[in-house]
Amino acid sequence: MINNSPDAPWAALAALARRFAERGWTPATAGNFSLRLEGERFLVTASGRDKGRLGEGDFLIVDRDGRILAGSGRPSAETALHLQVYRLRPEAGAVLHTHSPTQTVASRLFAGEGEIRLAGYELLKAISGIDTHTAELFLPVVANSQDMEEIAARVEPSLSAPVCVGYLIEGHGLYAWGRDPEEAARHLEALDFLIQCELDLRRLHR
Ligand SMILES: [Zn+2]
Repeated sequence: MINNSPDAPWAALAALARRFAERGWTPATAGNFSLRLEGERFLVTASGRDKGRLGEGDFLIVDRDGRILAGSGRPSAETALHLQVYRLRPEAGAVLHTHSPTQTVASRLFAGEGEIRLAGYELLKAISGIDTHTAELFLPVVANSQDMEEIAARVEPSLSAPVCVGYLIEGHGLYAWGRDPEEAARHLEALDFLIQCELDLRRLHR
């Protein structure tokens, strides 16, 4: 059984998902959310659910290989990408994935460059491990695929960077993570804001 108390881990993820759904970052059931539980178990959203109204039954628990331990339905198709982050970033306790218009447009515009350079922004300090606006953060942008193993292989080299809290998939959306759901949400929001700034600067030819 998945814990059904009001402070259950799934409830924290559902609240975040609702916040992002209200902003239009999870259109047409897009997006998926996960949390690391004790004992190398992971809470993940089920596939195809409205992210604005997630309940207990919209989550499953899987092991590190994606095998279902509890819950019904199918885990999100992108569960393998969440598990990759947990495997390669031991500090990650929550992984959030959304498809905002900003994320999607930026991922296409910058795909050819393979990354977006973010520098000179006060908001960079919202990223754990960065304490000055003079820091540089390179947000990886990898090609999309319907084969999660292909995406995982493309992003893997970037996941060993000292500061790495997210990446974009071309024409698709943003992954971001943190120690807990709150830090992951802060990283997701900061990255969305920063890439929106980069889009606006390009629009202004600067
Ligand atoms: Zn997606």
